[in-house]
Amino acid sequence: MRVIAPAKTCVEVDGLSGRRYRARDGVYEMSERDGRALVAAGGFRPSLTGATSRAAGYRCPSDGFGSFFTTCSRCGGPCERE
Ligand SMILES: [Zn+2]
Repeated sequence: MRVIAPAKTCVEVDGLSGRRYRARDGVYEMSERDGRALVAAGGFRPSLTGATSRAAGYRCPSDGFGSFFTTCSRCGGPCERE
């Protein structure tokens, strides 16, 4: 799962599993368990915030919703690569 870092300066974090993650463009690619822990500690889930960053790759042409996936999570339509 992907988690957006709590702070821009937060570029490295240790997961519960002991694995060390490094953020890329403010986004961590983590295991499900470690991701949930980071969210609990102040991280953001992209799907809930609708936040976009340079790491987000798709945008819905009908409502402009930014997405990490090819399917818009707002209207369900197909998204285009930015
Ligand atoms: Zn849409």
